[in-house]
Amino acid sequence: MKENELQHLYTEYVVPTYRRSIAISHGQGSFVWDIAGSKLLDMCQGVATNALGHAHPAIMRALNNQASMMMHVSNLYYTELQGLLAEKIVKLSHPGKVFFCNTGAEANEALIKLARRHGLEKGRYEVIVMDASFHGRTMATISATGNAKVREGFDPLLPGFVHVPFNDTKAVENAITPRTAAVLVEGIQGEGGIHVASEAFLSEIRKITRQAGILMLMDEVQCGCFRTGSFLSHKSIVQGNWARGFQPDAVSLGKSLGGGYPIGAMWVRSDYADVLSPGTHGTTLGGNPLACAVSLAVLETIEKEALATNITRAGRRLTQGLNRLARSRPIKEIRGFAGMIGIQVEDGPATKKTLEKAGLLMAPAAGNVLRFLPALNVSEDEIDLAIHILQENL
Ligand SMILES: *Cc1c(COP(=O)(O)O)cnc(C)c1O
Repeated sequence: MKENELQHLYTEYVVPTYRRSIAISHGQGSFVWDIAGSKLLDMCQGVATNALGHAHPAIMRALNNQASMMMHVSNLYYTELQGLLAEKIVKLSHPGKVFFCNTGAEANEALIKLARRHGLEKGRYEVIVMDASFHGRTMATISATGNAKVREGFDPLLPGFVHVPFNDTKAVENAITPRTAAVLVEGIQGEGGIHVASEAFLSEIRKITRQAGILMLMDEVQCGCFRTGSFLSHKSIVQGNWARGFQPDAVSLGKSLGGGYPIGAMWVRSDYADVLSPGTHGTTLGGNPLACAVSLAVLETIEKEALATNITRAGRRLTQGLNRLARSRPIKEIRGFAGMIGIQVEDGPATKKTLEKAGLLMAPAAGNVLRFLPALNVSEDEIDLAIHILQENL
């Protein structure tokens, strides 16, 4: 099919919720090909979902084997892979349990329902959330999101969210009332333009919430799953003395957890692991054997190929290259680390377009930021190629 024919199909038949650019036909590792046959370097990777890049053999194997056995039976039954994946996530996180769903937004819905159930007896239902945050596109998660554009036109929103400035401990402290059930924060704000939570901010939230008897929730949908070099971003951010005893109460996961296949999850620490009891929450397809098989293959490959170390090194190399470029090119700021790095430019949308024409895909974010969200197995050569394309085109 020609690009203009494909565009015509979308114009006629697809609800235009996205402004799309080029038409992609297939991918391999860190590269994709457009339908005219041009090869592009993919530093967007499905917006931080393709943890192993495109067409990874471990994922193909898991998909094929599991599809020939059983894709889905519903949560009315036990299946081995859901149990094994839950165990794996708990071992990579902290002692606790896991609830499975299909998307990041659903994982955040689970966090919000957990907070309300936990606060029920004390009349606590409000969740303190951050400005510039992003938590999804469902009604509850747009209500939580700290970006007015996402919420616009959907009133009445779900009540019970209080927005405060990010990285402002005093503001969180002042916002806590007898109605507060939880504080929800991203380790690194992704859609908001790559803003890293400070060590002090996260560890103060932990202290304040513990004292108030309310929950500390982290949205790790984008920054989790080894994107920062650790399974959960707080392990990369909160270190040294700060880290002593640091553990959030519950965490949402999605995106990279499925390596491109839809899966979401909530990890919740042991103390609160049974708050959502039978009948309080559910999903038909969440934690189905196919999704769990793929996710297990992703996590096993990350471990086997030491990709946490790889992405940390790749991020360092990329940051060094970007710092060099920033001396002569219009890069205003470089933020983030490892597999989540953003550059602030003059005109984000125009630069994104220019880079696409030059063969580099990047993910846009708020505030004229372009994000590098590479596969965790990205190579040094691919990082160098990205720098080269930027050098030639910025
Ligand atoms: C992408 C994202 C979500 C929403 O995930 P979906 O799978 O699109 O529902 C939620 N929170 C953060 C931080 C995200 O980056």
